[in-house]
Amino acid sequence: MESCSACGLPLPNTSQTCPFCGLSPDGSGSYQLIGDKDGFHWLAGETEVAIAVPLDDVWQIRHASTHTSQFYLISHQLEGKVSTALLNRALQPSTTMVFNLPSSKHAPVFARIQTADGRSRMAMKVDGPTGLHLIDSSGDVVLIGSAKNGPIGSGLDVLIVKPIQTLMPYGIFGVLLAMLLAQSTLEGRNIHPGIDTLSKPS
Ligand SMILES: [Zn+2]
Repeated sequence: MESCSACGLPLPNTSQTCPFCGLSPDGSGSYQLIGDKDGFHWLAGETEVAIAVPLDDVWQIRHASTHTSQFYLISHQLEGKVSTALLNRALQPSTTMVFNLPSSKHAPVFARIQTADGRSRMAMKVDGPTGLHLIDSSGDVVLIGSAKNGPIGSGLDVLIVKPIQTLMPYGIFGVLLAMLLAQSTLEGRNIHPGIDTLSKPS
């Protein structure tokens, strides 16, 4: 049985729209990343797919309803870069990311992202609170994101236009969360107010 790329639930048959999350089963559509005091939530359409909770120095990404672990996110900072790995349940790296912190107050943040199998390479550009773009190696826009209106920790509105199947449905949440956490290492240097503040759930 096929699974929906957006929410990961089994598709009863070939349908235009997933009966669980309401998105296209290929994973394109509108998502939300919402922060609260416990961590972060990942919604496909209006359906909660995954949650991320801090566990010592690691973030655990769990299935929203069964709470089984899907991925772990670990980061370290070195000389103006933040390197993050998304580990699968067997603790093997599935995706690695390197975030280059901005060289000046108005410079965008760039990140290089690749899956461990080498099948997908992407670049992320974060330029102010509304300009998050993820671009694949063909130059196509994979995802665009913007900070939600509202108080600290409100989250991101995300539109996936070209789903990367190797990152669906949980990996893309991990990539976006890694970006927020990389931003939080700039604590005290509030370079991108809209996105930076999202990394500190209130
Ligand atoms: Zn679905």
